[in-house]
Amino acid sequence: MRSNSGVMRVFKGLPASHGQVAGTVYVFRKKWREQVPEYDISAVLISSEIERLQEAFTLTRHQIHSLSAELCKRVSGSESATFEGHVMILDDPVVIDKCQNKIKEQLCNAEWAVHSVVSEYAAIFESMEDEYLRERVNDIYDIGSRLIRNLLGVSDMAASLVTKPCIIVAEELSPSETISLPRHLIMGFATDRGSLTSHASLISRALGIPAVVGIGNLSEIAANGDYLLVDGTSGTVILHPDQNAIDELNKAAEINKTFNISLEELKNKLGQTKDNVRVPLIANIDSGTTISDLEAVGAEGVGLYRSEYLWLALNREPTEDEQTEAYTRAVRALEPDQEITIRVLDLGGDKIIANSKKPGEANPFLGNRSIRYLLRNPDVFKRQLRAVLRSSVHGKLQIMYPMITVLEELRETNQILAECMDELRREGRGFNENIKQGVMVEVPGAALIADSLAVESDFFSIGTNDLIQYTLAVDRLNESVARLYQPAHPAVLQLIDMTIKAGHAHNSKITVCGEMASDPVMAVLLYGMGVDEFSMTPNMIPLVKKVFSCIIRDDALQLAAEVRGMYAQEASTLYQYCKEKLLRLVPNVPL
Ligand code: PEP
Ligand code: MG
Repeated sequence: MRSNSGVMRVFKGLPASHGQVAGTVYVFRKKWREQVPEYDISAVLISSEIERLQEAFTLTRHQIHSLSAELCKRVSGSESATFEGHVMILDDPVVIDKCQNKIKEQLCNAEWAVHSVVSEYAAIFESMEDEYLRERVNDIYDIGSRLIRNLLGVSDMAASLVTKPCIIVAEELSPSETISLPRHLIMGFATDRGSLTSHASLISRALGIPAVVGIGNLSEIAANGDYLLVDGTSGTVILHPDQNAIDELNKAAEINKTFNISLEELKNKLGQTKDNVRVPLIANIDSGTTISDLEAVGAEGVGLYRSEYLWLALNREPTEDEQTEAYTRAVRALEPDQEITIRVLDLGGDKIIANSKKPGEANPFLGNRSIRYLLRNPDVFKRQLRAVLRSSVHGKLQIMYPMITVLEELRETNQILAECMDELRREGRGFNENIKQGVMVEVPGAALIADSLAVESDFFSIGTNDLIQYTLAVDRLNESVARLYQPAHPAVLQLIDMTIKAGHAHNSKITVCGEMASDPVMAVLLYGMGVDEFSMTPNMIPLVKKVFSCIIRDDALQLAAEVRGMYAQEASTLYQYCKEKLLRLVPNVPL
């Protein structure tokens, strides 16, 4: 029964997955922690209790493997590796040993033993400074909850209660909860916590389910059966909406639907403006992206291959041969005239290998990340450079260096690349002697010395995700400072402007590969500022292509000239100005 008797309340959160949906609420509560039975057992029952525990571990392992296989079928890319943390916890002999010891020493039931061990692990992870590790606490609770349910012989209670189409409202969703919910009945997600990079956000995006996260306290206010609107594009959630709000949402959803159908016809066309000036639109990918993902959106090449996902998927360094195979597969998947840019290992920050020997850092985003890590570990760097070079004979492959901040880093890198080339020559292995090398400009310092960097490289790729984070001192993962993460901030735009000018003065091509490229408003402005090529999340290519096909080059040039005269204004004013101008040029496109 739809209940819409309450007062309309509008909530703002983070737009985690595009699209609009209206429906009834199902509040998904995590109650397992309060429901764990605790009782004493007699010493004679220890072995049978341990046997029960072992069976629960085996069953849980099977369940996780089949959930993981299911996820791999439905999504590609890094999201399909979501359950690797779960498998690691389950396979860690220390975890089961600890549970068994609790049973033996405290003479407690298996459920309570699991509960105690999980709580101990969770407390350790919750107090960790590293954001990524802290987020792993959800995997730990998720495993604990599943083990206890299996010991109790109950199914996934909450998931099995979802029997009709609904919008899931939760404090936070774990990856296994998200994926185990019946997909055909889930219309949307709205969660109190979570950032755009939390697991539930990644999965909902990959599955195409509208989602808003980081809302605050919706799960305490909403009740089962309440009527809710979720706009995953604007990040708005409306509880007990009035007819006006429902009409508005329906209108937005209808426009989106018709519009998405209209994008299909552009699929096989190249990116260009209305006056036929080429604007190459290429894709950001990782080792899990398939050629059909790229064909489905009409990507014209790959501007960013995030090689670190090979490390993250294997949880170790891939061998030189494994890397060569992966890069070769990627380059061969493209047409012979399409370029692919392999970015060397960008490990560190939030991207870490679970069992890495890397010492913990107080500020990992400012620490031994990316090229800094590679230059301190030249053997790792060499293995990767050799693999990239070996793969370069198979197509138009270029190489790109992340986080370059000082000139010495580029020089040392060039030196190591030259050594790798010498080695390969001596070994008689083929590679492209003229391979192009690019610098990612994602640190303000790099933008400021772009002139010198351009002399010793072939192209620039502006990583706006990090450039914004480092310029504005805003953690890109932290929902509580998301308001300050402003792509149109005049400081960011001026750094981009400087990079373009310096690059072009040395005939270097300028690509933007951060998320700014996938926002059509920003992409048009950047194009007007001189960016040559845009690399983005594959599923945003059709929209950006459509927008460029509706404007002429001079429109973008004029917009950029106007914005250059507005650098004394607030970022929101600049953004709004660009958006309004673009809406006048492309009135039928939802921006
Ligand atoms: C960026 O920083 O904009 C970028 C593309 O790199 P990543 O998001 O992988 O850090
Ligand atoms: Mg980056």
